Amino acid sequence: MAAGDQLPHYISTIERGRMLKRPQSALVVGAGVIGMATAYALARKGLSVTLVDREPRPGMGSSYANGAQLSYCYTDALATPAILPSLPALSLGLDKAFRLRAQWDLDYVYWLLAFLRNCTHQKFAANTAAALELAQDSCKAMAAMQNSHKIEFGHKVVGKMHVYSDEAQFRKAKALSEKKRVFGIRQEALSSAEAIRLEPALLKRTDPIAGVIYSPDDAVGNSRTFCTEMLKLLVTEYGVKTSFKTAISNVKLDQSAQATCGDGSVMSADIAILCTGSAASDLLAPHGVRIPVQPMKGYSFELPANNFSPKISITDSRRRIVFTNLGDRIRIAGLAELGSTSTRVSPKSMENLVETARQSLPDAGHYNHASNFWAGLRPMTPNSQPIISRPHDHLAINTGHGMLGWTMAMGSGEKLATLM
Ligand SMILES: Cc1cc2nc3c(=O)[nH]c(=O)nc-3n(C[C@H](O)[C@H](O)[C@H](O)COP(=O)(O)OP(=O)(O)OC[C@H]3O[C@@H](n4cnc5c(N)ncnc54)[C@H](O)[C@@H]3O)c2cc1C
Repeated sequence: MAAGDQLPHYISTIERGRMLKRPQSALVVGAGVIGMATAYALARKGLSVTLVDREPRPGMGSSYANGAQLSYCYTDALATPAILPSLPALSLGLDKAFRLRAQWDLDYVYWLLAFLRNCTHQKFAANTAAALELAQDSCKAMAAMQNSHKIEFGHKVVGKMHVYSDEAQFRKAKALSEKKRVFGIRQEALSSAEAIRLEPALLKRTDPIAGVIYSPDDAVGNSRTFCTEMLKLLVTEYGVKTSFKTAISNVKLDQSAQATCGDGSVMSADIAILCTGSAASDLLAPHGVRIPVQPMKGYSFELPANNFSPKISITDSRRRIVFTNLGDRIRIAGLAELGSTSTRVSPKSMENLVETARQSLPDAGHYNHASNFWAGLRPMTPNSQPIISRPHDHLAINTGHGMLGWTMAMGSGEKLATLM
């Protein structure tokens, strides 16, 4: 990505090839999917790793109840030229699925400007391709981990269907899918009848189906269970130490990284690696490091599965929601609110999501028993690419994975480890 894609004082790239001192010990701050994957990659490199999180358990942030989709073939950037005409509607809250909340914070304004600069055909293609490359690396890293270790987190390769109601949008999606072939991606464009044959749950759909982009190699997995199981593996097989209920209030950089905890105690290591999602900026600011990461709030809930529940993951492109089969439950996730910083579940937004899901697939599960209502903050960058960087000998960052953090986690951990 060209440096001019972001405002110049922001770090915005995956950094490569800087010659810095090789650390022996690392403090990984943040035990979401990115922190877990990072700790795993570093521990395999022989570093002595300590994993720290302010919560009592791993996977309590954005990784708690996301859409659960390992979307290795579908990595479309959020910033697209198609968004530009709908900006007034997004700002006025007229679009139920995607909102831009007004906020008079300079970093938020800069972020929006950088986002707009990414809304060109050229940048959309480049950003989507870069994310696709990382997603493919993640898919390989996930397979390698599973070959070495038997950890159970509901991982299944069930495939994913992107369902289009609009003919023109389907044609565009088909063209993009053809371009992705150079990356070795398997995707098929299906007619409505072909899609229903593969996934009979679509028969119950109320809207017409213009076409479906089917990615047979996409997978699902419960990211919170992954964090819990990965923690056991890291502790028992790689000697990783942990410190939960430990909020880091600042990191001093001297001959090492010294992280101050909420109780005033200090933890030291050769390097601190911030995998703190959208909270990373506060710890970076004192070091003059600014990153373009803003929280984008999303919601999820679950339904008990029934005989008509989809087996294949479904994305309804018009309504911007996803349906994921987690065995006995269907998880439904959606909504995007930029400018929201709280994880409070707003009853109005949740009702909106449940109603949208019901309109999309009325028989996806037992709607009368909907439960596990949740909201989380996606750490978004303007170009939908993460920030994997080592701006200082004793400090590194792995954040900004936005809508696809679970998908990109394993590859991002490996990529961060190459910076050591
Ligand atoms: C509704 C929704 C649906 C989604 N669906 C999908 C999907 O289907 N597929 C997909 O790939 N991605 C999806 N995502 C995105 C994905 O969940 C995120 O990108 C990913 O979880 C980010 O992981 P993380 O480890 O960076 O952040 P988090 O999981 O938020 O982890 C950050 C951790 O840092 C800790 N922390 C923060 N500050 C401090 C501090 N000062 N001291 C100590 N600890 C600290 C937090 O407690 C937290 O545990 C979805 C997100 C949402 C909200």
